Amino acid sequence: MSRIQELHTAEDKLRALYHLQKIDSKIDEIRTLRGELPIEVQDLEDEIEGLNTRINNSENEIAGLQETISNHQANIVNAEALIVRYTKQQDNVKNNREFEALNKEIEIQKLEIELSRKRIKDTFRDVELKTNYLQQAQSRHAAKMRDLEIKKKELAQIIEETGKEEQQLLKESQVSRPHIEQRLITAYDRIRASYRNGLAVVAVERDSCGGCFGKIPPQRQVEIRQHKKIILCEHCGRILVDEQIEED
Ligand SMILES: [Zn+2]
Repeated sequence: MSRIQELHTAEDKLRALYHLQKIDSKIDEIRTLRGELPIEVQDLEDEIEGLNTRINNSENEIAGLQETISNHQANIVNAEALIVRYTKQQDNVKNNREFEALNKEIEIQKLEIELSRKRIKDTFRDVELKTNYLQQAQSRHAAKMRDLEIKKKELAQIIEETGKEEQQLLKESQVSRPHIEQRLITAYDRIRASYRNGLAVVAVERDSCGGCFGKIPPQRQVEIRQHKKIILCEHCGRILVDEQIEED
């Protein structure tokens, strides 16, 4: 930090800007690292909520099917009781017509029993299918809960680990800024905001701009190395420096 004091020369200004860029890039890095985890945690929580709804619905459906089975079982018991009653009544009939009428009633009850048995069988099959589906949702739910727990721990850890570093870097960034003239800071912030990677000051790498990789003519590279003035990339407008400036 002591390197940034009185910034009269272009070289000092460039060095200060490059230094500020490095600090701000580290802050960006921390925020990117943390930035994706809360989204992952949120996605998992949403998925778990969806699975909860699915599990609840399946349980309700299965309960409904079981009620259907119970109703048919009661229906069978009822029909069997009626058959017993009608059979007894046949002993006391006065004529053949009454006997036949009771026979018809008995046949109807037998059909009722047959129908209920078929419904019970079909419903049991549905219960089996729904139970399979429910078990799948439950095991998926359990796996997602484990994932969520891991992600939440990771996030808490990252916040704990990087929180202090981020605060320190923010302080350094704030301390650096007043040493650089406002005109340059404004330009720096404007360029930084216009690029997703937040790079406003870049080094020349392999004869190219480190931000957009556009070629830099040899004469310009010489000027950049001289640190006599602030030079912008003609392709992307970023401020160009050479790596060496930090070591001077
Ligand atoms: Zn460029």
